Amino acid sequence: MFDDHEVTVEQEINDTSAGRPHVLLLGAGASKAALPAGDKHGRPVPLLRDVAEDLNLVDLFPKILKDLAKEDFEAAYSRLHSEGSSEALNKIDILVRGYFSDLELPDTPNLYDIVNMSLRSKDVILTFNWDPFLLQSRIRLAKLGLTTSFPQLFFLHGNVMVGFCEKDATSGLVGRPCSRCNQPFSPSKLLYPVENKDYQSDSFIKREWEAAHHYLKGCLMFTAFGYSAPTTDKEAIELLKDGWGDIEDRAMEQTEVINRPGADKNALRETWDPFIHTHHYDILESFYDSFIAKHPRRSIEAYWNQYWEARFISDNPVPQNFASFDELAAWYKPLTDAE
Ligand SMILES: [Zn+2]
Repeated sequence: MFDDHEVTVEQEINDTSAGRPHVLLLGAGASKAALPAGDKHGRPVPLLRDVAEDLNLVDLFPKILKDLAKEDFEAAYSRLHSEGSSEALNKIDILVRGYFSDLELPDTPNLYDIVNMSLRSKDVILTFNWDPFLLQSRIRLAKLGLTTSFPQLFFLHGNVMVGFCEKDATSGLVGRPCSRCNQPFSPSKLLYPVENKDYQSDSFIKREWEAAHHYLKGCLMFTAFGYSAPTTDKEAIELLKDGWGDIEDRAMEQTEVINRPGADKNALRETWDPFIHTHHYDILESFYDSFIAKHPRRSIEAYWNQYWEARFISDNPVPQNFASFDELAAWYKPLTDAE
């Protein structure tokens, strides 16, 4: 018997009615969670604040900034920038770009593959990460032909794989030709002085933030994964807040914050306060506890049924360990077939 108050997994799979986006924001914690033992070759994935120590960059900072560099790389970089030491800045840029460019996803299915497969083209991923994992995953999934409906990606701090054509305001993989002028895309800038920011001065970054603003305004669910909202990155927080708008106007929208196990939930609640309307939030310790992982490719439909229609929904949790891409493909097939 069909019960109007319940939504089965099969009904969820066949419902593709949602038009509004789910916005997923990724920080360095997401890459840590995806690769706890490092990349394919065991290279560690540093958190942004630890970049100076992890990449042996501390010696490039003047004596007065060495301690700060160890504590908070971005803050120290920002100070170095305001002192105008272009030689040191260039060296740091080259080393950071080199390190992150060399990182590689392992050959087996990874959390990033699940992230890419669990949203669809109306949805959006905003990432602060320089590392190439999200794009490496996207490229291999596209080659396998599992879907053509991938979430849109925007790179809020630039990315080692993403380039830009200034003249045509188009972006693509670094080194590949721009579809309009045929000139190779130039690498996006990675490092910015975060304290007196500058998201407007670089045309690529400006465009990414405009997109972020647009989609944050229109989304019904917002999930922040592994982004600790550093106090130094004031403008990033302001821009995100501005995009989200007044929480009073977002009374039915849901915010999820995913952080590492054991993270201070009260501190996270406080950090994300501007995004949270009363009790409409969850603070989670794993991506697999999120709405995206429990309702892959249907998170907004599931949200709508549960919170607006007050129906009982069943979870359709994505498995945590796919042994192969064939297994992964088979699991997502009913979802992509229904689209
Ligand atoms: Zn061009």
